[in-house]
Formats: sequence, C-alpha cells, structure tokens
Amino acid sequence: MARIIELDPHVADLIAAGEVVERPSSVVKELMENAIDAGAAAMTVEIKNGGMSYIRVTDDGCGIAGEDVKTAFLRHATSKLRSERDLEAIGTLGFRGEALAAIASVSRVELTTRQRGEGEGVSLALEAGAAGERSPAGCPEGTTIIVRDLFFNTPARLKFMKTDRAEGAGVSAAVVSCALGRPDVSVKYIKDGKEERHTPGDGRAESCVYTLFGREFAGGLMKCSSSGDGVETSGFVSTPGAARGNRGHQYFFVNGRCVKSKLLQAALEQAYRNSLFTGRFPACVLYITMGAHLVDVNVHPAKTEVKFLYEKQVFDSVHYAALSALERGEGGAAAVVAGRPRPEADFRPAPQERETAAPYAAARGTPSPPREDQKFFRTVKADEFRKTDAARGGARGAAPGGVAWRASVDEATGAYGRPGEQLGIPAADESGDAELPGMARRAGYRVIGEALNTYIVAEREDALWLIDKHAAHERVHFDRLKAESGVVMSQALLSPVIREYGAQDAALLLENAEMLARLGFEIESFGGNAVAARAIPSDIDVGDAATALEEICEQLRSGGGADTESRRDAALRTVACKAAVKSGRRHDMRELEALAGRVFSGEVRYCPHGRPVAMEISASALDRGFKRK
Ligand code: ADP
Ligand code: MG
Repeated sequence: MARIIELDPHVADLIAAGEVVERPSSVVKELMENAIDAGAAAMTVEIKNGGMSYIRVTDDGCGIAGEDVKTAFLRHATSKLRSERDLEAIGTLGFRGEALAAIASVSRVELTTRQRGEGEGVSLALEAGAAGERSPAGCPEGTTIIVRDLFFNTPARLKFMKTDRAEGAGVSAAVVSCALGRPDVSVKYIKDGKEERHTPGDGRAESCVYTLFGREFAGGLMKCSSSGDGVETSGFVSTPGAARGNRGHQYFFVNGRCVKSKLLQAALEQAYRNSLFTGRFPACVLYITMGAHLVDVNVHPAKTEVKFLYEKQVFDSVHYAALSALERGEGGAAAVVAGRPRPEADFRPAPQERETAAPYAAARGTPSPPREDQKFFRTVKADEFRKTDAARGGARGAAPGGVAWRASVDEATGAYGRPGEQLGIPAADESGDAELPGMARRAGYRVIGEALNTYIVAEREDALWLIDKHAAHERVHFDRLKAESGVVMSQALLSPVIREYGAQDAALLLENAEMLARLGFEIESFGGNAVAARAIPSDIDVGDAATALEEICEQLRSGGGADTESRRDAALRTVACKAAVKSGRRHDMRELEALAGRVFSGEVRYCPHGRPVAMEISASALDRGFKRK
C-alpha cells in the first residue's frame, strides 16, 4: 500500500464529514473495511461484551510500514487518496483517513502490524488518542488492531449505548454485511469466546450466503444476473414464497460496498409487484458493479449511501435481474451449494408472459408485462355450451384418451351453474357466443382434466402443466376480496358462532372489531373471553369461521407493529384461504378452464401466501424421463 500521508486541508474539507464511530458496530465495520482495503484474504473479528470492552480485528493483508504507524492515527491521514481528483473514482472502501483517529480518540488501542516481506513487525499503543512509543514486535504478516474500553473517556456517549446484547447484535449485523460483500475473503467471527461464523472465502457467493444465513434462507433464493449499459448485477433474490415481513434481508453491494438505497430497493420490489402483497418484502443479496467513476460514495458520513451517475441504467439492471429470475423461477442457493442436481429443476413455477423473460436487451422498456385479453374469460350460457364439442362429451377436444372436455352438464335441466360464480370470477358477458374449448385452443392451451382432485392438468405449447386448484382459487378469492376495498360481502348467521378465545385473543378480536366488520365478520363480546360472530364473510363456511378468527388473531399478535393495510391483507389471505377450502370439491370443466385461463394469462401466479400455483413440465423433460432422447 502507498505511504500514509495527511490529506491537504482542502481535500479534507471536501469529504462528507460526520461521526464515524457511533457504537461498537461502526468500529468493527471500519476495521473490517481497512482489512479488505489492505488486500486481506482472511480476517478474524472477535468481540467481548457486545464490543464495549474488547474488539479485535486481525488480517493477513499488506500491513503498515513501521514509519507510518503513528501517521495512520492522525485525522485525515490515508494512503488511499491523494488529490481532489481521486475523489471522483474511489476504488477502496475507506478514503477519508478518519476511522483510526476517531476510534483511537475514544478507546485504548493496540496495533501490531508487519508489512509483507518485512522481517519484523511493529506495535503501538494509544490511549484516548495519545500514542505511546512504537516498539518492534514479532508477529505474522498483516495487522491486528485491538480496541478496548470503547468510550471510556466520553461518559456522555457511553450513556447512549444499549445493552451489550443489543450492541453485540449490531456488531454481528455489521460482520455479516461486510463478509457478504466479499465472498473472496474468509471471515471468522468470534463473540464472547464462541465462533459464530466462518465464511470459506472461496469467492463463491453461494457458499458465503449459506454459511452466514443457513440452509433455509439460501434455499429460498434464486440466482440472478443481468448486464448491459456498463452496469452488471449478479447474486440472489428470494422466491416470492420466501419473502419476509421486513426489508432486513435486502443486501445491496455496489462495487463491494454495502449500501442502503431507495433506488435499488424500488428496482427490486417493482419486479415482485405481481407476486407479493403489501407487507411482504423480497430478500436479496445483489452485487452491482460499475466503473468507480459512475458512483459517488462520498455523500454520507458512514459511506452507506451512494449516488449514481446513471440512475436509470442501475435501476434497470437490478430490476431485470430480479424479474428474469422470477420468470425462470429457479431457486436454491442451498441446492447449488450442496452440489447436487435438483430433481425439480425442470418444473418451473408458472411464467407470466414469456416475453419478459427475454434477454436483458429485449426486456428493456417493458417493465410491466402485458396482459392477455381479459374478455377471454367470459362465461357461456348452457344452451350455447351444449352446441360445443365439449358438451357433446367427446374426444373431439382431441385430448389423448378421450377424457377431455367432458362436462358435467345436468342433462335434465341444462343447468351447470356459472363457473364464474363458483370461482368468485364475475361472470362477464351474459350474451357469450364463444366456444370454450375453441377459445382455449386459440389461447394456445388445452385443459386435459383434473388429477387427484387437486391439480388441473393442461397442455400448453411444448409443455405439460399442473395447476394447484386450491392455490389458484385462493388467489382469485383474494384478488376479488381485495378489490372490494370497502366491505366484504357477509352472511348473517341464524345462530351465532360462539367460541372461547383466551383473554388475549378475545381482547384482540374486540379491539379490531371494526376491521373485522369490513372483512365481513360481525363480532361482539359474549361474556368472559367468549366472542360471538353474528355474521361471517359470505365466501366461507360456518364451520370454518372460528378457525379463521383464530388465525386472524395469530396474525394480529405476530404482526403487532404492522400498518392497517397489511393487517387487513393478512386477514384477507385467511378469508381467501377458507373460501378456497369451501370450493375444494370436484369442479366441472368450465371452472377448470376459467381457472387455467387466469393462470395462463399471468394474472394468477402465486397464491396469497406466495406459493406457486402452477408447475411446468417441459416436453423435453418428459422425453428425457422416458429416454426418448
Ligand atoms: P482510510 O481507511 O479512510 O484511509 P483509516 O483511518 O481507516 O482511513 O486508516 C488510515 C490508514 O491506515 C489507511 O489509509 C491505511 O493505509 C492504514 N491502515 C489501516 N488499517 C490497515 C490495515 N488493517 N492494514 C493495512 N493498512 C491499514
Ligand atoms: Mg478506513
């Protein structure tokens, strides 16, 4: 590394000033960044008492020259920046020359370091910023900095520290984001004598994610990437099913620096617009790289915010990386790490419109996928339907085995109920003139039938499709309930459903009676902890009402701080689920058709809980399975 010099006061003034050392986590972050800038391949971070009494960071980086060790602790002394011009393209994590000075001024520091290729090292102790004499030291190449008794000389700041446990949690979070940013650097983290994490440093983001967050989190991620316009994005985004209740697991690294950015957050979240609900957030670990001159890192004291020269290009890069992963729907850093082929690799969640999965260049400019013509889902009348191939009960729908298109029309009355109604799909056009199977054919798919009373089997283009009827229903119900943004239709009960809920739950229900009323539940206290429901949403069975209320209680309890909108959404999900259970019986062909149509139009992709509603088995996967190829 270059000599450490004090910055020219003019350059120092250009630097975004601020307090770099607020708490133990900021000390750890700065020391880890220094180790990374020193080219370390491995480092150990150790803390005791949440970092308040002891922090040690040891690295195998380039070390500091003996004659420079004192300079390193001067304010605005750095080896990473020389002139104003250098500020325009910063390639290191640090550049202000402030951290060591700031840390040393509020603690007792011990530095031991040996430059690469030097026979001997040097050590230096400082107390409240005052340096002692440097002395020769026998030590390995690299640097160790120990920080003891943080804020011992600034009681006012000490007062603002939280418990050791809380500060320790802050340190752990800082270690995780630093380690995650550099999968090529092995990070060992020891907390109160116990090894908490140890990343392999093999340069593979998969293994880094896996060691830091564990199998379950890694298993919910999909690999993604995009490149173009001088911006590259790679990394992982979560499947909709693995979405979280907050943004705590969104990690963005810009040129290796962990940053908070509303722009990147929006780019990610907009990709999930059709697959997640209010209150659910995708997780991600995304590495965004671009020329150092295209990003300004000198805008925030803690260097956690950045400014992009070309915001749109950066937005698009992240947006399309996430979108194409969602379209592909492949997943599982865990599976990748384990190094075994995933048996379900050929089964992909329903795509929306294939064209959005086109290569980056082609996808540009079409951030919101077009929808197929909604009129497709119109309902036909019984007598019209009877004229069709389907109603004539035959194989003329050209299904293999002649099972397709057999409809359960009641021959005596010609009545079959409007599929739209049963599915909660508004029956669109009463004067329908269409022939359902024909329409389906024109739309490029064909429903073959229903399997295991659960899955709709369909064929589309070169693939076989299985659609989870319940999941798709749930989504249809949810969308409809949500669209009835005012009040959900309710059914008054002849005799109320009365149940003992436990003190806490009974109170919760009654407190939220107004929200519940808008969901179609009319409830009132029935003495003690008993609550009576006098009306329930019209879509759900009386027998499911009490369970639905219990589930809503559970959500209210766990989502305490959530806003009204997300509380309502969570409750709607429960109602939609119960409504879908109610309709969980055998369905006739047109109902299956209508549901499949919604899935193939891209309107229904994930159930309200984020599970996929459909799977695709490609013809080539089948051919491979049957060894035809
Ligand atoms: P900055 O990182 O902004 O340059 P710091 O105060 O964090 O400022 O560090 C001052 C200087 O000390 C750095 O520029 C670098 O030359 C040197 N230094 C600090 N930590 C290390 C380390 N772990 N290994 C090698 N050099 C280091
Ligand atoms: Mg630094």
